[in-house]
Amino acid sequence: MIKIKTPEEIELMRESALIVSKTLGMLAAEVKPGVTTLQLDALAETFIRDHGAIPGFLGLYDFPNTLCMSPNEQVVHGIPNDTPLVEGDIISIDCGALKNEFYGDHAYTFAVGEIAPETKKLLDVTRASLYVGIKEFKIGNRVGDVGYAIQKFTEEHGYGVVRELVGHGLGRKMHEDPEMPNYGKRGRGKKFVEGMVVAIEPMTNMGTHRINQLKDGWTILTADRKPSAHFEHDVAIVNGKPELLSTFKYVHEALGIITNEEDEFRAVNN
Ligand code: MG
Ligand code: MG
Repeated sequence: MIKIKTPEEIELMRESALIVSKTLGMLAAEVKPGVTTLQLDALAETFIRDHGAIPGFLGLYDFPNTLCMSPNEQVVHGIPNDTPLVEGDIISIDCGALKNEFYGDHAYTFAVGEIAPETKKLLDVTRASLYVGIKEFKIGNRVGDVGYAIQKFTEEHGYGVVRELVGHGLGRKMHEDPEMPNYGKRGRGKKFVEGMVVAIEPMTNMGTHRINQLKDGWTILTADRKPSAHFEHDVAIVNGKPELLSTFKYVHEALGIITNEEDEFRAVNN
């Protein structure tokens, strides 16, 4: 069952989402060769708690850490460890926070130092595909319209769209209805209505869309071991249109990236 949020609840969700946005922004300055994903995880946990929230993933379905840390060929759900990142790596960081009983859930794939041009393109296309999908999250459309748009855009670039993992409704639970696949058919699936909040999160593989899972029961990686990228935003339908609750502005400030990609999805008074 889809849980519609009141305007007041959406404001609480914005608060949770922004804590995650700021956490990712803090991490953006720390992602560099030599740092370990466990060190970044500890920084994130402290930061989230200092902002009056609880790490959203820690203990959720028994996940052991604050961040999902998925380098290179790992798609999602990687577990932080003590292996240092090296120049040329990419690292997908997925982060959750719980405050006022509502979750934020938000992800970004970072470059570690200089990365190969083809890897940079994978990151750029995946981030762009996120907004292609968000644009379709509006009154009059359905779940399949978002998935169709992301899949078409992604496959036109020759990349693989992961099937087994999907976006989702978000609220008092991390994973609510509806599921939000990054593939689909126009006009299919649940209808969007005012007050829906979802996490849209394309997971894009440079090669095959197929995946494997490690024996740790968590880590998802590409079947061909080519790189994979993951970007995620929390989005509400307000006045019939998609409105971002999360933002990459803190990340982009830290990285010196100038973009207007979020402008059309910002709240009127934000
Ligand atoms: Mg996430
Ligand atoms: Mg999610």
